[in-house]
Amino acid sequence: MDFRPSEEQVLLRRSVREFAETEIRPHVREWDQEQHFPAELRTKLAALGLLGIQFHEKYGGAGMSAIDYCICIEELARVDPAISLSVAAHNGLCSSHISLFGNEEQKQKFLVPLARGEKIGAWGLTESTSGSDAAGMRTTAARAGNCWVLNGSKTFTTHGRVGNVMVVMAVTDRAAGTKGISAFIVEHGTPGMSSGKKEDKLGMRASDTSEVLFENCRIPDDQLLGEEGHGFVNTMQVLDAGRIGIAALAVGLAQGAFEAALSYARERRAFGKPIAGFQAIQWKLADAATKIEAARLLTYQAAYLKERGRRTTLESSMAKLYASEIAVRVADDCVQIHGGYGFVKDYPAEKYFRDVKLTTIGGGTSEIQRLVIARQLLSK
Ligand SMILES: Cc1cc2nc3c(=O)[nH]c(=O)nc-3n(C[C@H](O)[C@H](O)[C@H](O)COP(=O)(O)OP(=O)(O)OC[C@H]3O[C@@H](n4cnc5c(N)ncnc54)[C@H](O)[C@@H]3O)c2cc1C
Repeated sequence: MDFRPSEEQVLLRRSVREFAETEIRPHVREWDQEQHFPAELRTKLAALGLLGIQFHEKYGGAGMSAIDYCICIEELARVDPAISLSVAAHNGLCSSHISLFGNEEQKQKFLVPLARGEKIGAWGLTESTSGSDAAGMRTTAARAGNCWVLNGSKTFTTHGRVGNVMVVMAVTDRAAGTKGISAFIVEHGTPGMSSGKKEDKLGMRASDTSEVLFENCRIPDDQLLGEEGHGFVNTMQVLDAGRIGIAALAVGLAQGAFEAALSYARERRAFGKPIAGFQAIQWKLADAATKIEAARLLTYQAAYLKERGRRTTLESSMAKLYASEIAVRVADDCVQIHGGYGFVKDYPAEKYFRDVKLTTIGGGTSEIQRLVIARQLLSK
């Protein structure tokens, strides 16, 4: 067991950190305030390989490992969790679904431009009446000659407005339950597909989130993704990997909040000394650093197993649950250490505090992670 990062991983972390500090940090507050999705960042992210992190070079990807992926997502989240969420959703949901279950033709047509960062991906599972209970979806896809006709809507879709390619889950055989759900690739601009309400969010405001509507949206038969009826089970596999990404995002966010708190604690003086001199503050810092390290190890363990082709349902959920819950705690303590300055926008603490809540909700809530973990434990 070797916990040391490789030389390449040290370099990777350094280069993504430098990129985030120079290209993202100066704009964080403005993008958050304006709810601005920075499309202008796309070509720069693509140049670093960050829009095709784990995909094979032959599909336009950067061919990095699952742990490298975590490092990239962490370093982006350390500076701006909203940008990290966009990158994680593009890589870990839409592109990953096509990479795992698409045929060669679909990979050439859709994965290559996604991995090269020429297109942005969206992934639609959640609906207004079905989130955790995803199999309760209402969107349908019916065969009509050599087409499929989609009707329904998706809610909370990351890149619902700015995405060029979307993977959409729909019911193709209601009577078959979860075995009657299939996945489809839909190109933005297909007649019958439109973006609905843009969500005005608590946090992660620079990440585009909206409804997507389908009204008699006809898509060719060759855009059925994976086998008919396998959409739900394939989705669960996509989520196993996607949860490692949200865990890494939570670790990076917590790291950013911790560093902000540490630096503030050294500067801020009370009762004649820096507040870092008080044991009450030191304990918060010590607890935060310890929890972040434990969350990082759980996350890298899940990534390590994924890299070796192992099923990671249990490990992914454990990493996602733990990392997101400690991140909420660390962001809370970061505000507390900042006192009143943690409550105003001049310091980054309040933004970490708002952004972090998404990590216990997106990709499956903490309650659902506990349910998945318990099921795995009880099935042994
Ligand atoms: C910013 C953002 C981005 C998102 N991006 C995407 C995306 O790109 N694609 C996509 O498909 N979805 C996306 N989502 C949706 C997200 O995955 C869902 O919000 C999440 O799965 C929860 O579903 P819900 O909101 O319907 O809550 P609900 O399922 O209605 O849950 C409400 C509450 O009930 C609890 N609950 C539900 N069932 C159980 C149970 N069996 N046991 C115990 N408690 C339970 C939940 O844990 C939660 O606390 C995004 C959400 C947000 C906020």
